Amino acid sequence: MNERRSITILGATGSVGGSTLDLIRRDRGAWDVVALTAHSNVDDLARLAREFGAQLAVIGEEHRLGDLREALAGSDVEAAAGAQALCEAAARPADIAVAAIVGCAGLAPVMAAIERGGTVALANKEALVSAGEVMTRAVERHGARLLPVDSEHNAIFQCLAGNSLDDVRWITLTASGGPLRLVGDLDSVTPAQAVAHPNWDMGAKISVDSATMFNKGLELIEAHHLFPVGLDRFRIVVHPQSVIHSMVEYRDGSTLAQLGPSDMRVPIASCLAWPERMDTPCEPLDLAAIGELSFFAPDEERFPATRLAREAAEAGGAAPAVLNAANEVAVAAFLAGQIKFSRISSLVAQVLDGGNLPPAPQSLEDVLMLDRAARTRASNLLETG
Ligand code: NAD
Ligand code: MG
Repeated sequence: MNERRSITILGATGSVGGSTLDLIRRDRGAWDVVALTAHSNVDDLARLAREFGAQLAVIGEEHRLGDLREALAGSDVEAAAGAQALCEAAARPADIAVAAIVGCAGLAPVMAAIERGGTVALANKEALVSAGEVMTRAVERHGARLLPVDSEHNAIFQCLAGNSLDDVRWITLTASGGPLRLVGDLDSVTPAQAVAHPNWDMGAKISVDSATMFNKGLELIEAHHLFPVGLDRFRIVVHPQSVIHSMVEYRDGSTLAQLGPSDMRVPIASCLAWPERMDTPCEPLDLAAIGELSFFAPDEERFPATRLAREAAEAGGAAPAVLNAANEVAVAAFLAGQIKFSRISSLVAQVLDGGNLPPAPQSLEDVLMLDRAARTRASNLLETG
């Protein structure tokens, strides 16, 4: 990277936020930190804002403003709180905004960053899954740019560089298969087992999504918005070693793949430095030590999530937002010990099947309304069994 850059990190206290800050810490002089945000962890947020000399720190929970002010006393960091303040942080001028909030809760801030016409490094896949065309249209209208942080999408983005989407025959998303791929009885799986991912160290929600394969389902929907080659050109292959992060096959029979360690700092660095490159401290790939790469077809009988997501993407309109909202409710209930593992996908199927879906959302407000209604429906179904 040649020039100093300014950055905002939405979800700075999380796993992706932390990996991003780790890269910045290693080259402090190259970065100006504009804003950092978190949901409820005032202490971590204040500590990071002081360390990185942020202009602004925003805590999502509105009633924590006093605590944040106290934690930042004597520093130059401005404190703010609440949903509106998250959007204002996202809209502050910065060369890049990293969208690393988990869930549809991150949608409004992502849209605020897009409406500013800025560059958004998108980790928050649920935002794009829920908003779909509402987001991609806003990107076009405001001249914004989305850079994909999700490792598969970042791989595809790199494999597409310099090529035309018209020449793409297939895009193959790789999936590790998660920690339960070889587990016999899915009903007895505990939250601790489900979040123990074999290759990646991630937040709790995405770890459960990896175990159910909803992560790959959400990624399929995410990919078809980011790389509009048509849904029928996307394939999913299980690749337990997570060395190949995804592939693009062209019409001449060439397949380009991106390989790397299972470390989110690699795709994050690719976004931070884009279109240049920057150093990371990640271990170089040692293919001889890895030995073998293997590939399997996904088992959609045991893990129906990818099929449900494909159907929702094909239906379009409100379906992906409903799928995402139901999954968020189900994952939270599973993590709280309220439902069995297999109830996650059956609840999502039930919410999608029951009754008419609302019309396709046309605005951010429509998406948020849809999301709230689907959450209520999912919660009610959980209560009534
Ligand atoms: P995480 O749970 O570790 O962190 C989430 C961050 O968002 C935290 O800073 C938290 O304070 C904030 N947050 C949570 N709820 C919020 C709310 N309601 N309002 C405002 N802020 C809120 O999550 P993560 O694993 O870092 O994942 C973040 C996003 O990146 C997810 O969408 C995930 O799917 C995606 N992603 C993560 C990884 C990974 O390796 N962790 C890889 C690819 C994609
Ligand atoms: Mg991914």
